[in-house]
Amino acid sequence: MMMPSISSAFVFLSACTVFVAQALPVMDNSSKRSNIPRASEPHIRTGLLTNCQNSRHFALTFDDGPYEYTSALIDLLKKEKVKATFFINGNNYWSGSEINADLKKAYRAGSEIASHTFTHPSIPSLTDDQIKKEMYNNEQAIYKAIGKYPAVMRPPYGDVTDANVDLLNNLGYTVVKWSIDIKDWEEVNTVSQELAIVKDALKDSAKHNIILEHDVYKQTAKEFAPKLIKYVKSQGLTFVTMSECLGVDAYKSSGIEL
Ligand SMILES: [Zn+2]
Repeated sequence: MMMPSISSAFVFLSACTVFVAQALPVMDNSSKRSNIPRASEPHIRTGLLTNCQNSRHFALTFDDGPYEYTSALIDLLKKEKVKATFFINGNNYWSGSEINADLKKAYRAGSEIASHTFTHPSIPSLTDDQIKKEMYNNEQAIYKAIGKYPAVMRPPYGDVTDANVDLLNNLGYTVVKWSIDIKDWEEVNTVSQELAIVKDALKDSAKHNIILEHDVYKQTAKEFAPKLIKYVKSQGLTFVTMSECLGVDAYKSSGIEL
């Protein structure tokens, strides 16, 4: 449910944060900021997260797209009645207006669109202002496509410092990595080897239930994804989006203001 934001002037007067003129996110672990009045949304979780709250949940995530295999992948998800989360870059494999149709299609099919920064940099190499700009640019790209500002992000390469996470939380983002990596980004493993990694990981599904994949690789989108879905279903696990997995908001009502 959307609640009204507190006024930007009020935030400006009362908050000593890295940004002004923007509603503050609600944080679970925010005692150090307990004196700061904040809006009721987005609901985020602080720190760097790697797993779903429910060990019977399984979160399918795709990074770095959209790209030429994404549309067919969304068709597969629709057919299998599976919802995933796409951590997208506004300027990576594809840029400009091409990304809009895929993001819209994924969103309308019930998957979530989350941020993976605009140009896929290693976040610790950036200044705070540069990080803000990356997140701002990607928010604008996503808003253009689906009319929503994302409230979940994954740092490229999983690279992030504690200070980066604090900043991203303050910008209204839950920060999440993964707990299963099939290493499709190495482009070395066969589909069988990738499935073996998943089978091994799911021996302890409480610790391994967010899978990192990349829809920019043909093998992942066309061959691995259908087999993975079949296997995860056979284990009786429930596919969830990132917001369901983590118990946070997928989107926020206002974007970053530079
Ligand atoms: Zn990436």
